[in-house]
Amino acid sequence: MAHDFDLFVIGGGSGGVRAARMAARTGARVAIAEEDRYGGTCVIRGCVPKKLFVYASHFHEDFADSAGFGWTVEGARFDWSRLIANKDQEIARLEGIYERLLNEAGVTILRGHGRLLDAHRVAVGEDEYSAQTILIATGGHPVFPPGHGWEHAISSNGVFHLDDLPERAVVYGGGYIAVEFAGIFNGLGTQVTQVYRGPQILRGFDDEVRNTLAGELVKKGIRLIVETTIDRIDKTPAGLTVHLSDGTTLETDLVLAATGRRPNTENLGLEAAGVALTEAGAVKVDGYGRTSQANVYAVGDVTDRINLTPVAIQEAMAFVDTVYGGRPRTMNHADVPSAVFSQPPVATVGLTELQARETYGALDLYRSTFRPLKHTLSGRDELTMMKLIVDRATERVVGAHMVGLDAAEIIQGVAIAIKAGATKEIFDATVGIHPTAAEEFVTLREPLPDPEQQAAE
Ligand code: FAD
Repeated sequence: MAHDFDLFVIGGGSGGVRAARMAARTGARVAIAEEDRYGGTCVIRGCVPKKLFVYASHFHEDFADSAGFGWTVEGARFDWSRLIANKDQEIARLEGIYERLLNEAGVTILRGHGRLLDAHRVAVGEDEYSAQTILIATGGHPVFPPGHGWEHAISSNGVFHLDDLPERAVVYGGGYIAVEFAGIFNGLGTQVTQVYRGPQILRGFDDEVRNTLAGELVKKGIRLIVETTIDRIDKTPAGLTVHLSDGTTLETDLVLAATGRRPNTENLGLEAAGVALTEAGAVKVDGYGRTSQANVYAVGDVTDRINLTPVAIQEAMAFVDTVYGGRPRTMNHADVPSAVFSQPPVATVGLTELQARETYGALDLYRSTFRPLKHTLSGRDELTMMKLIVDRATERVVGAHMVGLDAAEIIQGVAIAIKAGATKEIFDATVGIHPTAAEEFVTLREPLPDPEQQAAE
């Protein structure tokens, strides 16, 4: 039977747009449906506006740091509404580029909620379309924790459209989004309390990264309350009262819940199409992104594997190569680098020390903690921490972690070496760029004392 399209993509975010464009370039007839704005979470309410906010909030420290270099910056003031307006303009520009790229590739652009009627038919509003292959790229959404009063709080969706910068904010959560927004608000002058139910922020990251960053955030004035939950939020004439599990309360103007995200699988017709979910509620896929229905694929956050934009994009590329390029391939999810745009930032690639011990046993660890050159004159008490984890048997570097200025820019290059399987010897043979922080990664010579050997002595 002839279908309306070769490929129908549901969701115009990072993964969906890339797959639609690239499939169309192979000559496939492609349609895409988006119910909100083209660009998706990353462009409209995630990575991009978030990073713009991080830049905005960092100027506060930059102005203060400039004094040690001879500058006097007088009368510096911050205008929240100008930041929001400029950010909105840039996001609208990017949204336009996404649509233009789809248009130029010959993709049919639809607006509205897409829902599968069966394995080959999709409804968008009143209209119905059929396609040989369907790609689900619907992403995820933030979820609020259980309890009372969360209607008074906002999620990361609302944080980009606040009318005013709050004087006081409570950020709830310990993941990267919570940490990033605690830093953004703090940098802009808001009094920030971050509340997290676990023992330390950034669960899943290397413990030394977690501890170093927590120390730096506290130094910058963020009040960090761990092993505590928010039981209830009450609205008061003066703002909000947050009731904590230890019986104390916090008075605040804003509560930002950054307590997790869930895949967008509701009202998608997945059952009608025979598409199965994992126990956690994500679309279940094999290595090629194929769902339990052979002609229906899924990529990105809706599959809840590694929820990052470059991962969604690589999964989309693997899908296009597999289905339209005659080169079936899976995406390799090992050694995916990632960053937390905290202040100072964190970046990491490969295994944490704990994971590496479980995987390889004997390790050699290298670590350097120092005050970056910039802060010798700025006088700022901010540390950089860099750590390499080496599998002793093969001498391969299996993890690199950094907290400090430019961490994300530095780790991107290190990730190439780790992906290529570089040994410590290759790191050592690499000449540094001086004076940089990055050169530490190629000049770490003395391993830390081995805790097992120390215990045996
Ligand atoms: P999305 O980009 O979420 O796109 C899904 C699209 O589908 C959405 O536009 C949605 O409106 C649409 N949709 C959903 N259901 C339907 C339907 N039934 N019909 C039609 N359309 C539908 N990642 C990074 O790599 N770096 C970062 O710094 C980073 N920062 C982030 C900060 C925040 C605050 C958040 C929330 C996320 C951040 N991420 C970051 C994660 C990143 O945004 C996601 O991993 C990425 O957007 C996933 O792409 P996707 O294509 O799977 O889904």
